[in-house]
Amino acid sequence: MSERESIYEVVIIGSGPAGLTAAIYAARADLRPLVIEGPQPGGQLTITTEVENYPGFSKGIQGPELMAEFRAQAERFGTEFLTSWIRQIDLSERPFRIVTDEHTLKAKTLIIASGASAKWLGIPGEAPAPAGLGGLGVSACATCDGFFFKDREIVVIGGGDTAMEEANFLTRYARRVTVIHRRGSLRASKIMQEKAFKNEKIDFIWDTGVEEILGTAETGVTGVRLKNLKTGEERIFNCEGVFVAIGHKPNTDLFKGQLEMDEVGYLKTAGRTMATNVPGVFACGDVQDSCYRQAVTAAGTGCMAAIDAERFLDHLPVEIATGEEITIEGERVTADHEKIILPDGEVVSNQAELSLPA
Ligand code: NDP
Repeated sequence: MSERESIYEVVIIGSGPAGLTAAIYAARADLRPLVIEGPQPGGQLTITTEVENYPGFSKGIQGPELMAEFRAQAERFGTEFLTSWIRQIDLSERPFRIVTDEHTLKAKTLIIASGASAKWLGIPGEAPAPAGLGGLGVSACATCDGFFFKDREIVVIGGGDTAMEEANFLTRYARRVTVIHRRGSLRASKIMQEKAFKNEKIDFIWDTGVEEILGTAETGVTGVRLKNLKTGEERIFNCEGVFVAIGHKPNTDLFKGQLEMDEVGYLKTAGRTMATNVPGVFACGDVQDSCYRQAVTAAGTGCMAAIDAERFLDHLPVEIATGEEITIEGERVTADHEKIILPDGEVVSNQAELSLPA
């Protein structure tokens, strides 16, 4: 393992829309950011197809193409990239210490843009092979695996936009796609619902849970065991592929016990800034957003996080979750802006002194 000599001004974890937008802003501010990317460079948009709602592309753009543009723009201004798995991060003192498989790095500020990953049901048959049928007919990514299901009978589990998008996409290949949803109405946006309802290759099974995925290593997936959640009635539904599309989980395991999170694990950021509870650590994109989760909002918060990091490095105060503001030297401005608490505990007034012209 090598200890990188330099201390980075800004290290960004993640290379989706949030991380790369933060990189573009930090690089243009001459902070020479390092982006550390993991197993899915480019984030969730690299496994989606047409993106029709990212402003600036009136005819739409393919997700991977959009992320290639983000990356080229970040590179153009001098962003450094490192592909490595992060093992450990120590936020107890600045510079922060980041241990990857190959390196130990130091960062004066950290921008976390590690996004979110697909959630799984935790039912028998779902785990990756050989324990289950994952990779043998079970997937969470239609764009990655849809091609392997030509003329097959497929089920998609979930009732949100992801499930509708996956179902629509899979009809390019599949003989039939059946959406199985645990309630009687969809969570997906109206436009996505209408697309799915209009698609003649898509059926729906309502108020139903999937209890088990059936099949063997030799046959692959052969069916699912369903349970009607209103009547309790169980039955087998024959199919050759299962796509799980029930939402995402924020990638925050590395920060447990170090950063404040909500009950699901999304990082908490301050009201008007992207600051976490640790001064100098900022979070942006899906890792801190359980509400909007759009590429454009991720990019927006990436921009905010980079500007916050830049302010902090410039010795300017940045608001933290308590409403206080804090500088890189550890000076705190009280939430009412009336006092400054110096690192040694001394309290001084934050009131501007009136100096009248003579
Ligand atoms: P959502 O959280 O919106 O939907 C998850 C779906 O899975 C819900 O219908 C939920 O059911 C169901 N579900 C969750 N857990 C379980 C479980 N244990 N068993 C059975 N069903 C379960 O996640 P999405 O990934 O669909 O969307 C996330 C965000 O990304 C949304 O804001 C969405 O708008 C956005 N998005 C936008 C796209 C686009 O604009 N092109 C494409 C994809 C996503 P229930 O409804 O009962 O809670």
